[in-house]
Amino acid sequence: MLSKRIQVLSPSLTMAITSLARDLKAQGRDVLSFSAGEPDFDTPQIVKDAAIAAINDGFSKYTAVGGTPEVLKAIAGKLKRENNLDYKPSDIVVNVGAKHSLFNIFQAIIDEGDEVIIPAPYWVTYPEIVKYSDGTPVFIDTDETSGFKITPAQLKAAITPKTKALLLNTPSNPTGSVYSKEELTALADVLKGTNILVVSDEMYEKILFDGLVFTSVASISEDMFKRTITVNGLSKSVSMTGWRFGYFACPIKEITDAIVDFQGQSTSNINSITQKAAVPALNGLADADIEIMRSAFERRRNLAHELLNQIEGISVLKPEGAFYLFVNTKAIENDSMKFCQKLLEEKGVAVVPGIGFGTEGYFRLSFATDDATIKDGIERIASFVKNYK
Ligand code: PLP
Repeated sequence: MLSKRIQVLSPSLTMAITSLARDLKAQGRDVLSFSAGEPDFDTPQIVKDAAIAAINDGFSKYTAVGGTPEVLKAIAGKLKRENNLDYKPSDIVVNVGAKHSLFNIFQAIIDEGDEVIIPAPYWVTYPEIVKYSDGTPVFIDTDETSGFKITPAQLKAAITPKTKALLLNTPSNPTGSVYSKEELTALADVLKGTNILVVSDEMYEKILFDGLVFTSVASISEDMFKRTITVNGLSKSVSMTGWRFGYFACPIKEITDAIVDFQGQSTSNINSITQKAAVPALNGLADADIEIMRSAFERRRNLAHELLNQIEGISVLKPEGAFYLFVNTKAIENDSMKFCQKLLEEKGVAVVPGIGFGTEGYFRLSFATDDATIKDGIERIASFVKNYK
């Protein structure tokens, strides 16, 4: 029945664990979920108000496929103001979430056999999108010794004549690692003189801790600006996951034009109301709400990090951004699926197995939940680990 194309996709492990947790809950079990990939905060009021006004004003028709002039201007303004990037509105395309941006991008730039370098651990969707585009994911494994970041030497060794793109994600889902300006500059030096594109997923740029300042890879140099496709959205930073607003910016006209055409034959424009709602957030009017969420994440990160590291047999680096901890269980169990399934069944704690992110011997714990749940959940993990067989 099914096309070969659709069969290359693997089911999402995050979804599998979430649905197992839901089943247990439906059976009346007391389940604590740390598998969420979304903030537990409501969308800022100013965003909701803009949406309500748009509905009442009848802003309910098709818009330009790649986004309204108003929203494209707001994105260009945001990228200039916050990221020091000089994109024109015509360099930008709005998509149904950043997942859709990435899907469109790889459909547009990858031919069969083209290689895309993906640092591991990676966000679950990256290899699937590359495979669906007939491309070949090439993984660079990282661990705690480099703070889960690739080194220039690793990047150099991964490049072949077939390399089409490097996919970077900073801050990272699942590790929370953040590349410094110096680290990005060193990676940029390796790419100089090549035709390799960089796809930079900056979804978690606003969830940064310890006063860290975010650097967009396209801002490193003119050379990087020309080869980079910057991807971002509002799901994580403004707590708008369900609204579906993502975008990319790219100075290569051929690519943006092709994607607008492609999107014109698939989804057309994203929801008109969401575009109106996004404008105040992009213009910085939700920044105070964003700061409330960011500081709550920082406090929870400190709490969860400290409690987890008190447990003998597991260890975790302190993430510099995003809202995940990537916990090393290798001293007691390398099979992450087995560990997570047992933890869920025996203690009612849902976390995501590291294998879903391409790395065995870990689990991902999302701290996008309240302090009491974090404390209770980690206590259960401690008792599980103590008696692990
Ligand atoms: N990129 C990363 C690293 C993510 O974790 C996610 C969501 O989980 C996305 C992109 C996609 O977000 P959305 O499609 O909601 O904009």
